[in-house]
Amino acid sequence: MNPTIKRLLAYCADYPVWLVQAGVCLLLATGAEVAGPLLIKLFIDDYLAPRHLDWPVIAALAAGYLGLQVLSATGFYLQSLRFNRIAQAVVQRLREQVFATAIRLPARYFDQHRSGSLISRITNDTEAIMNLYVQVIGLLVQKLVLLCGILVSMALLDVRLMLVCAALIPAVGAVMWLYQKLSVPVVRETRSLLSDINSRLNESLQGMPVIQAMVQEVRFANAFAEVNQQHWRARLKSLKINGILLRPLIDLFYMMVLIGLLALFAHEGLSTGGAIQVGVLYAFISYLGRMIEPLIEMTNQLNQLQQAMVAGERVFALQDEARESTRGASAELAGRVSFQGVNFSYDGEQPVLQGVSFDVAPGQMLALVGHTGSGKSTIISLLMGFYPIDGGEIRFDERPLSTLSLSAVRRSIGLVQQDPFIFVGTLAENLRLGREGIMDAQLWQALDEVQLARFVRSLPDGLDTLMEEGGKNLSAGQRQLLSFARALVGDPRILILDEATASVDSQTELALSQALSAARRGRTTIAIAHRLSTIVDADEILLLSRGQVIERGSHQGLMAEQGHYAQLFEMQSQGAWLEEKRA
Ligand code: ATP
Ligand code: MG
Repeated sequence: MNPTIKRLLAYCADYPVWLVQAGVCLLLATGAEVAGPLLIKLFIDDYLAPRHLDWPVIAALAAGYLGLQVLSATGFYLQSLRFNRIAQAVVQRLREQVFATAIRLPARYFDQHRSGSLISRITNDTEAIMNLYVQVIGLLVQKLVLLCGILVSMALLDVRLMLVCAALIPAVGAVMWLYQKLSVPVVRETRSLLSDINSRLNESLQGMPVIQAMVQEVRFANAFAEVNQQHWRARLKSLKINGILLRPLIDLFYMMVLIGLLALFAHEGLSTGGAIQVGVLYAFISYLGRMIEPLIEMTNQLNQLQQAMVAGERVFALQDEARESTRGASAELAGRVSFQGVNFSYDGEQPVLQGVSFDVAPGQMLALVGHTGSGKSTIISLLMGFYPIDGGEIRFDERPLSTLSLSAVRRSIGLVQQDPFIFVGTLAENLRLGREGIMDAQLWQALDEVQLARFVRSLPDGLDTLMEEGGKNLSAGQRQLLSFARALVGDPRILILDEATASVDSQTELALSQALSAARRGRTTIAIAHRLSTIVDADEILLLSRGQVIERGSHQGLMAEQGHYAQLFEMQSQGAWLEEKRA
């Protein structure tokens, strides 16, 4: 069996009770359905044809037939309920698992995959898998059982006629095989295009302000229409395959078998004077009709099966992605951070960091400065363990990062990212971010330190103000300050600030520098800053250029050196002086 299908089926083994219940209902319902024509055959051949009108027996037969119909309807209803229940449970679990995997994927995965494709896997693909349980498995089993029941009943009536009808089965089998061959590639293409559609949608929604500001509505609409068209064409291709193979071809076979049955009946009737009873013929025609339905259903389900299989492949591929390791020692960190000759590249080709070394003792402050794209934020990402390094070593308290538990390291670090993320929820929730045992007073203290308390007090709902998606109801500077406060609330051993003051006005920045001097006390601090005035009192300053440290030392030392740093600083203070003069 196909390994993906096997893996998907393994899930339903967790619901044995429902499975058994569904199976029993299915058997009962099928038995009742198959027995119906037998009763009618009995009625025609034993009572109607010989004009033997024994009313009580006929009434009993009619009641029995009716009873069987009711039984089969109830049975099918109950089994479909059970199968649906299993399907819902499986899909729910699958979704949880996929999401749990997704949030533990290493940063590199998100660099290489679009978020829309992830969304597609968690929603559309799991949905397709649900159909596997609701329709495919339930129907396939049901129809198979029905088919066996019909064949047995036919054999009981007349083995030769049964063999004629059974010729349908290999013929339909051949159609199924052909269908499988033709449709898998098309289905795979369709699902991947669906994922593209999701990706584009997601990107456009996120970039809406840019699209509208740059008047790019038409171009984006066209690009979307293009993928949509491709998806439509792929669907059409698969519909064509379905259209020709699934119904008409099988109907043709049905007609041929029907002709065969009638020919045999006529031949027998002419040569031997009616060896086959009319009731038997009726039963066979009725059975043939019932037999063709499950066969068509089963081939129809192949399409769903294919969808589920491809969806399963995609979901499992995600699930099998290597997650971030959760192993490693989880001791409290004292705050020493060192890089020793660290080399790194995002894509394995373009070097981004080359031989970067530094050592920050507990409680000291390191500042990283340098041009845009010189690798400052990358150093932070490596420190956080977002990417594995290509060479050298990162150590915390003399222990290599690779031997430490990532979550323990991250818990000891308060990180203010360059582009902070605000979650949907209240302001307080955004500050606490799930860390328990943090009192409101601590939140206010942090807000106070980052100069945001006055703003929050002015809000009608204060700490309970609801934040919109991505913090849209805050200004860029407020988002940065909020993220700064969020880092302080955890009382981290190590504080990392990536351009934490880039978007605030000069007055707030000054106040923040003072806050930072207070926050630094007793903490290891690593700060990235373009405005050099904010980091002049750092214990060590590294000047980066194209991933290499080109100058290092204290502010005084670097100024005395008269190198690039001194130049940069001069330039900035002149700018500031001009600004002041203008104002
Ligand atoms: P800035 O001052 O503008 O924030 P930076 O010094 O923080 O710049 P980094 O973000 O570290 O710069 O980027 C260093 C280099 O790595 C850049 O050339 C950038 O193109 C590349 N880079 C950054 N992030 C990624 C990523 N996720 N995937 C691939 N390349 C990346
Ligand atoms: Mg950066």
